[in-house]
Amino acid sequence: MRKKIIAGNWKMNKTAAEAAAFAKEMADKVSGNNDVVFCVPFTSLAAVLDAVSGTNVAVGAQNMHFEESGAYTGEISAAMLTGLGVKYVIIGHSERRAYFGETDCIVNKKTKAALAAGLIPIVCVGETLVQRELGVTIEHVRMQVKGAFDGISADAAKGIVIAYEPIWAIGTGVTATAAQAEEACKAVRGVIAELYGNNIADTIRIQYGGSVTADNAAELFEQPNIDGGLVGGASLKSDFDKITNY
Ligand code: PEP
Repeated sequence: MRKKIIAGNWKMNKTAAEAAAFAKEMADKVSGNNDVVFCVPFTSLAAVLDAVSGTNVAVGAQNMHFEESGAYTGEISAAMLTGLGVKYVIIGHSERRAYFGETDCIVNKKTKAALAAGLIPIVCVGETLVQRELGVTIEHVRMQVKGAFDGISADAAKGIVIAYEPIWAIGTGVTATAAQAEEACKAVRGVIAELYGNNIADTIRIQYGGSVTADNAAELFEQPNIDGGLVGGASLKSDFDKITNY
């Protein structure tokens, strides 16, 4: 049985003080049924780690650089995150791919660097609306997964969380149907099985993301290949616990 994992992606929202106050309020309501992660801006990591200490909530970053250190002005390394106590990191979110030029190759380097540092990567994949309309969703998602996992050992692969996030569903209020989400997540598990075998494919956790709300979370998370969600907008609402405690 795979434990569900529900991660909130706060994106570029809240000052450190606001983040700490909200994290504390929410963490007190989060049960231990599922793994729960708050992925907060870099500037709020320390404050949120402090606020959720002793609760059922872990903390994640939303990005990192793949190099260990060096002349990369403005960047943050994996060791800087683990040094704070951060456990997870989102890699290759579609907003980073679209606005910051992240390619499958960069996603692969970041995934490897995160694993090497002991972070759990949440690797995002997903198609555009045009790709869905062209009928190439599964091909595209398979390619992204293969790119992200290139050169990663079976042992390391099983610790990765994959988030299937159709881009047309992110922040739009248009959620994939449970059948669409299940079809893509099943295909993702299928590629992992081809790459690493059925045991690892059965172990790895695959989230759905894209306009998940307290109203639609249960139906999505009950699909056989969906092991929780990556949640943007709804993770900033005071009833996020209705999703985390599913
Ligand atoms: C996200 O940011 O990954 C996301 C899925 O956002 P939303 O839930 O707002 O669609």
